[in-house]
Formats: sequence, structure tokens, C-alpha cells
Amino acid sequence: MPAIRARRLFDGRELLGERVVHVEDGRIAAVADRGVADLDLGDVTLLPGLIDCHVHLVFDAGVDPVAGLAGATDEELLDRMRDAAAATLAAGVTTVRDLGDRNFLALRLARKLSVIEGPEILAAGPPITTTKGHCWFLGGEADGVDGVRAAVRERARRGAHVVKMMVTGGEMTPGTHSHLRQYGLAELRAAVEEAHAHGLPIAAHAHAGAGIADALAAGFDTIEHCSFLTEDSAEPDPAIIARLAASDVIVSVTAGMVPSDQPPPPGIARRIPGILQSLRALYAAGVPFVIGSDAGIGPIKPHGVLPHGPAMLVGLGYAPLDTLRAVTSQAARACRVADRKGSIMAGFDADLLAVEGDPLADVTALLRPVAVFRMGRRVR
Ligand SMILES: [Zn+2]
Repeated sequence: MPAIRARRLFDGRELLGERVVHVEDGRIAAVADRGVADLDLGDVTLLPGLIDCHVHLVFDAGVDPVAGLAGATDEELLDRMRDAAAATLAAGVTTVRDLGDRNFLALRLARKLSVIEGPEILAAGPPITTTKGHCWFLGGEADGVDGVRAAVRERARRGAHVVKMMVTGGEMTPGTHSHLRQYGLAELRAAVEEAHAHGLPIAAHAHAGAGIADALAAGFDTIEHCSFLTEDSAEPDPAIIARLAASDVIVSVTAGMVPSDQPPPPGIARRIPGILQSLRALYAAGVPFVIGSDAGIGPIKPHGVLPHGPAMLVGLGYAPLDTLRAVTSQAARACRVADRKGSIMAGFDADLLAVEGDPLADVTALLRPVAVFRMGRRVR
């Protein structure tokens, strides 16, 4: 039985010293503090493979991903998504939650890929949105209480792992506005009730404070972005943040980008100070969080960008330990796979990432993967 030795081990919760991880049939068989190893990785930290709670494999990370999508057939998109999955896995991201595709392509891809070809994919299918609402071009338009209920049922029937709903508008869809709501509370409540009746978690895309408050009131399981965008800036609302902190909801903060010399689009640029203020306010209030990179939506967000996320948050004052939990054990909880992913424990899937040095001392260590294992097989 293969055994891997590392100088340090982050088990998903805390940093431990030297350990030997025994792998059998794709799973972790045992974690020992000494013993013989077949593979000694040296001065590395072994972590659970990272979990990105918010990606779009269908988007090409180009300057205009919407045009890139419109001009492609489903088969062409599947080919690109295969490459996106490979790049994601090579970066040490062994599980992704895909929160928006076209024609349920991420689910199709999940069924086609072997374990060494990509991360485990948990997919939402097309996000549920209003007619001509945010990301309508992905095919998930649904209006009214009956309409959204039917849309949720369709996703359950097709085997989606999660439901995604656009509670507010978004930046990439002309004619929609991030700072405005798309749905009324009755529709949000109906969607949540229907998702939960089918045993599915439901994620809210919400930028505006009023949309965040609605998503919380309706009982969504995760709130994506949670940026408190206004028309010109972003203004974290202390009353809503206190309610988030007291609830069971997990906020999926959007973080992680590659360095770029291109300025952000003006609509984003003027809001950046406010967005950073929102991120600080959420953390200061103790709101449980995971990290979603939104990989695919632009050149600064290539597939596999998640390891840049913790460094961005640490730069804002987040504790490194909290950011590591956010991309491992806490992410597994948000994605409902905490019984097999996000921790290094006997019985868990042997999805592992080894990085140079100590990521608690320097979270940019996540950008220096030495080895990646997926279900016990070395893929890097
Ligand atoms: Zn997104």
C-alpha cells in the first residue's frame, strides 16, 4: 500500500508535524506520525486537495467569455471544458462546484472524465434567472413561483448537485444590474423549498444588500459574492452582516486572480475600495465563509486560479488558517461533501496537494504545488 511522507500536514483544520499518509484503493487508509514511506516528498506541506466553491468551466477566461460561448457548439464547449478541468486539477484543485453552464454541460463532463483528467465536478446546470436576467443566455430563464419550482425540479431530475439562482443582476449581462434584485421573496422561498425538498443545496448569486438580505430570509445555503454593491460603490450593511453571522448560511466570497497589467472594467474599478471594505466587514463579524474564484469569467480568472484566493484575503487581514480551512474543510461542508473531501482522515478520498514550505507562514506556498493526487493517483 503506497505511503506518502511529508514534513508537515494540514488536515483541513490545523497544521500538524511530520506524517505518513497511507493510501489504498483511492482512499486514505491511515495517517501515522511515523513509519516507512514509499514516497518522501521532503520539505512540503500536504493538504487536502483544494475545493473551489464557484467556477464556470464553460467560460473560456477570455476578454469576452459570453461571445466565446455564443459562437461555440456544445461539443466544442465540452472540448474546452476538458482543458479547463485539466488546468484546474494541475493547480491542486481537486473538487469544483460549477455554478453555471449551458445545457448541463458540466454534468455531462463530470460523467465523462476519469479521475486523473480533472477535479470532481459538482454542477448546478444553467443558473435560474429571470427572462433576460443575469446570464439568461445560459438557458435558465424561469419566472414566477411556479416557473422557478419547475426549474428546480428539472435540475433535480437531471442529477444536478446544487441549484444556483440569480437573486440580483450581474456585471457580465447588459441590461441587468448588480445592485438591483431580480426576484421577489415569494419566488426565492419557493425555489429554496423545492431544492430542499429534493435534498439539494441552493446557492444565491447576490451582490446588492437587499438581495443578500432576501437570500438570507429565504433560506439559501450559500450566498455567492455577497459584495454589497451599490450603483457606484459597495457599502457593507452592518445589520445584514450581523444577521449573516448569526445564521447557518455560508458566504462564498469571490477571491483569487492572477496578476495583470490591464485595468479592471470601469464599473468594477470604481467599486473596488467598497468591495474590499465588504470583505473586511464580513470577516470582522465572523461570518462563515468559503472561497469561490469565479474561474473562467475573464483573463484575470483562468481555470485553476483558486490558489491565488487565500493570499488576496490574507492581504485584507484574514488569518491564513481561516483561508486554508475555507478552501478545504469548510468548502467541503458548503458543497455537502464533508464526509469524503476537504480533510486528511482515514476513509476520506485521497485527493491531496503537496506544496513547498509552510502555507501558514506564507499562503503563497499554495502557488507552488510539488505534487497533486486525485483519488490516490499522482497527476502532478
Ligand atoms: Zn459566477
